[in-house]
Amino acid sequence: MARIVKKFGGTSVGDVERIKNVAQLIKADVDKGHEIVVVVSARSGVTNELIGRAKAINPNPEDREMDMLLVAGEQETIALTAMALHAEGIDAVSLTGAMAGIKTDLYHTRARIVSMNCDEIEKHLDEGRVVIVAGFQGVNDNGQVTTLGRGGSDLSAVALAKGIDADLCQIFTDVDGVYTADPRIVPKASKISEISYEEMLELASLGTKVMQARSVEFANNYNVTFEVRSSFNNNPGTIVKQEVSSMEDVVVQGVALDRYQAKITISNIPDKPGSAAKIFSGLSKANVVVDMIVQNIGRNGVANLTFTVPRDDSARSRDCVRNVLQELGGGEVEVFDNIAKLSVVGVGMRSHSGVASELFAALGEAQSNIQLISTSEIKISVVIDEEGADEATRIVHTAFGLDKEED
Ligand code: ASP
Ligand code: MG
Repeated sequence: MARIVKKFGGTSVGDVERIKNVAQLIKADVDKGHEIVVVVSARSGVTNELIGRAKAINPNPEDREMDMLLVAGEQETIALTAMALHAEGIDAVSLTGAMAGIKTDLYHTRARIVSMNCDEIEKHLDEGRVVIVAGFQGVNDNGQVTTLGRGGSDLSAVALAKGIDADLCQIFTDVDGVYTADPRIVPKASKISEISYEEMLELASLGTKVMQARSVEFANNYNVTFEVRSSFNNNPGTIVKQEVSSMEDVVVQGVALDRYQAKITISNIPDKPGSAAKIFSGLSKANVVVDMIVQNIGRNGVANLTFTVPRDDSARSRDCVRNVLQELGGGEVEVFDNIAKLSVVGVGMRSHSGVASELFAALGEAQSNIQLISTSEIKISVVIDEEGADEATRIVHTAFGLDKEED
């Protein structure tokens, strides 16, 4: 007998038929004698619909009321899932986040989990029930309901797996797992069978499209191994876990392409101490998250600085930089939206050399000009022209031997 946490995302519980299908998946484990805790999201689209309604009524809804509204999405699916299990003759009970003992801090709409009291869940498990917990929600010390940020049901599942010391945590979604590249761009992309938390997080456009980043960070901090798999077929998924030495045999695990960045170049900035600090503190006050930063060596008393920001923030960033430049007494700013960031990721990079040169050779072959480069211990990212970025991704994927074998 094992203790299993099974989390079903919005598409997996998207309608009545799918909820019945989820009940079948749970039943299969109940029949094997396992103890099951289920976490569900709202039906796909429901959270967005509720947000839309709120904004139509009041463009600036209070965060507390927003949470009160959004928890309704998950409350619907826990009850329906329990009913679907009852229809199969399975003893099951639904619990809100608060009833399940998920305690958070005081921040509405993006609360953090501070503690778990799993007594209620344990009691039901002891009595032989399947426990169905509403994802994405908790309760704070003032007894108010809170939500954990978009995609937060993943976090609920991982935290519960830790809280009840589960043997297995399965995240059921609408994809088969994490792939070596986005299969829509790279048809030869293949499913990764095992990946480390760090790689999953670094593969931003692949890994965290599948799962909320905070939940992967939580799993990393508390060492919760989990599996990402599809609820629409029986294929094994991707196991996400702590790094083991055999993972280093694979130098590059995946190639990610991020088209949602813009490049900002500032030229002729007065080259004196404190200039960069002024620019970046201005951006951080404007809540812009800066990614790659490159500064050229100053000449003739001026320097050039280039960095990337989320594309949606490019106009705001430009205005903000202009204001700072006025204060500094010089410099021009230009925004380039037509760029893409391509990254190769793998813990094997720690112990293998030559990854950068192989990447640059592949990009040369793809006729992609490299505009910026940044590296970390397990990742190399380059900014290239958006045009041709898909083709470049395919060529890099092939160069690192990631193409799926023909079957
Ligand atoms: N329903 C919430 C959302 O759409 C939480 C989740 O699905 O994980 O963000
Ligand atoms: Mg989700």
